[in-house]
Amino acid sequence: MPSTHTVDRAELLAAFDAELQPERFKDYGPNGLQVEGRARIGSIVSGVTASRALIEAAIEAGADAIFVHHGLFWRGQDGTVTGWMKQRLRLLLAHDINLFAYHLPLDAHPTLGNNAQLARVLGLQATGRFGEQELGFIGGRAEGDRFASAEALAAHVGSALNRPVVLVQPAQAAIEKIAWCTGGAQGYFEDAIAAGAQAFITGEISEPQAHYARECGVAFLACGHHATERYGAPALAGHVAAQLGLAHRFIDIDNPG
Ligand SMILES: [Zn+2]
Repeated sequence: MPSTHTVDRAELLAAFDAELQPERFKDYGPNGLQVEGRARIGSIVSGVTASRALIEAAIEAGADAIFVHHGLFWRGQDGTVTGWMKQRLRLLLAHDINLFAYHLPLDAHPTLGNNAQLARVLGLQATGRFGEQELGFIGGRAEGDRFASAEALAAHVGSALNRPVVLVQPAQAAIEKIAWCTGGAQGYFEDAIAAGAQAFITGEISEPQAHYARECGVAFLACGHHATERYGAPALAGHVAAQLGLAHRFIDIDNPG
């Protein structure tokens, strides 16, 4: 990744923070700079998760910084640097690579975030927000038409994401009002139902949602946590990199989950 221009780490952090406004969110882990690397940054690799595979690929690419949706530190961890955590941290520190991670702020960004970018990929247009911290998006097809059925919507989503979709409760009627929230947002289903959605698109399903779908007659589509969250990190990191004149590349480490 040849980069002709570099910026100070603090300048890059300020640019990410200005876009994502992490202070507006109550989150499950620290947003911003999670691991400090070298002071000057010319190239960024973005990815979904700060996995060992992504860190190794970023080292290979010669990145000065990694930008991810899922960082290393989460509420509820035991706080030890052992096992996979040791391996990931050792690689970052040994190669002096900065790790930037933004969780809920990246889901929520109105144009470059995961929900906005999933809508772009699926051809949906948001008309409103719903759910805790207003993370859920609700709207319909961008061209204004409906999907003939929940099966038609599921087929459309499956082909756009190139991944099989789990569909519960195919509704009889055409689908006009669609809610979505990327990743592990199955807990938003009841709020989506209350907001009047006829179908809800997210990454994962848990046992209770199948019953809610059947009992409320609202289609539930589980499309993959990773598959629904592949689009925000490259959009945001690419935008900021272009703004600051830095090199950027998205590296997708495929994940069936
Ligand atoms: Zn996620």
